[in-house]
Amino acid sequence: MYDNVASMDMIEEASQPAAHLLTDWKADVAATLATPLTTADRCDRCGARAYLRARLASGGVLLFCAHHGRAHRDKLTDIAVEIYDETDQLGAETGRA
Ligand SMILES: [Zn+2]
Repeated sequence: MYDNVASMDMIEEASQPAAHLLTDWKADVAATLATPLTTADRCDRCGARAYLRARLASGGVLLFCAHHGRAHRDKLTDIAVEIYDETDQLGAETGRA
């Protein structure tokens, strides 16, 4: 009986880190909903319309199109204090993600 309980605890602990990362990402998005991106916001890398905005701890802001937002997403989650992601709207406009 106790052996089973201990095993379940170990499984839950092992699965928590990934779940926390996902929760943090979504919480960051929700916290920045007040300022939508516009067609005037352009990707810092290629100049296409920006669908993702990342605010850094330094106070700087990076803008990325859907392509570059995806390409740098892992890194952004590490360095950004806020991430605003509208890439889901891009999928809605084109009909395909
Ligand atoms: Zn780009």
